[in-house]
Amino acid sequence: MKARGWDVLERVRAGERLVFDGGYGTMLFAAGLANGACPELWNDTHADVVRAIHQGYFDAGSQIVETNTFGGTRLKLDEYRIGDRTRELNAKGARLARAAAPAGGYIAGSIGPTSRLPLDYALDAGVTDEEYLETFREQAEALAEGGVDLFAVETMMFPQECTAAVRACKAVADLPVMATMFFQYEENNDRDRTMWGESPAEVAKNLIAAGADVVGMNCGRGPDRAIVIIREMRQVTDAPLVAYPNAGLPVTTGDTVTYELGPEEMAREYPALLDAGCDIVGACCGSNPEHIRRIRDVVRGRSPRK
Ligand SMILES: [Zn+2]
Repeated sequence: MKARGWDVLERVRAGERLVFDGGYGTMLFAAGLANGACPELWNDTHADVVRAIHQGYFDAGSQIVETNTFGGTRLKLDEYRIGDRTRELNAKGARLARAAAPAGGYIAGSIGPTSRLPLDYALDAGVTDEEYLETFREQAEALAEGGVDLFAVETMMFPQECTAAVRACKAVADLPVMATMFFQYEENNDRDRTMWGESPAEVAKNLIAAGADVVGMNCGRGPDRAIVIIREMRQVTDAPLVAYPNAGLPVTTGDTVTYELGPEEMAREYPALLDAGCDIVGACCGSNPEHIRRIRDVVRGRSPRK
């Protein structure tokens, strides 16, 4: 029997648009996560808080909710000297999200960057493709063990790291993989590029070649750029596309960081994002369940994609 995560692809291919979730960082900080503390550790120490955040997104209309495991590779957890808890914290993260899911809700295992540079760019000991593969494989295995329906490889900066994560997911489980990269808007050139200069079209082609089932963008500048990025990706692929941009740029006042776009302002951009050919939409940094509720309303008000 095929894992139920594959339903996501079938639904999208049939023309349905799906709603992803919103940011976790802001929610965790609001709940008391200290600056510099390890968010994944809360899957153990503050399980109720994490579960409540998942619940909030499902209640707001998210059909796919992510696990709190963005920094859950051993390479990243080693920064907090808890690399030996990799398996436990990822499996717990998956179970927490699962516990909050209504019947029919999907859980995506979040896999973010290791924060370690690839060999080609690092000045000192960079990470080889094999090391990336190994660390992502360990995380993906634990997430699958905890019961995720699909994987969300996200906020990736380097092509090597992103493709290694996609391949690792594909190697450990027969589950769909969403892969999204972080794009910077280059104002002088009026274009969007990854940190290492890849265009949206190149990213889409590379990630699909690596085995990703859904490709797209997340984080970055905001929905206005997401529209342009998705449009460029749509020109080169028929694959399902996903976008969950930030709620605009961060605005720092003293010690507090807020984001440019409130729920209503942000949702106003989503009809154009759907028109650009996006199949799965959500939001990233600076968003909360209220943003998702408004985005859900936009999606509900639209006819399916032809
Ligand atoms: Zn973000």
